[in-house]
Amino acid sequence: MRNGRCPKCASQRIHVSNVRLPLQGWTFFNVIPITASFWWGSSTASVQHYICVTCGYVEQYVTDADKLLEIGAHWPQVTPSET
Ligand SMILES: [Zn+2]
Repeated sequence: MRNGRCPKCASQRIHVSNVRLPLQGWTFFNVIPITASFWWGSSTASVQHYICVTCGYVEQYVTDADKLLEIGAHWPQVTPSET
């Protein structure tokens, strides 16, 4: 998708969002909550959307390297399976 080609319909009409909320935390529309704590506050990561305007397929990416490290430190890792 980030190479400009839709994996579902092979269209090259891919558009990317760069919308950032002025106040993070009042909605999870385009942010992912990483940690939530009443005492220490919450941490969120902004999500960038890639959308195929031919078929409507959407991919999402966290692009902030620090946020990826934080997610890796706090979220359980999925064990790869053979199936
Ligand atoms: Zn498509």
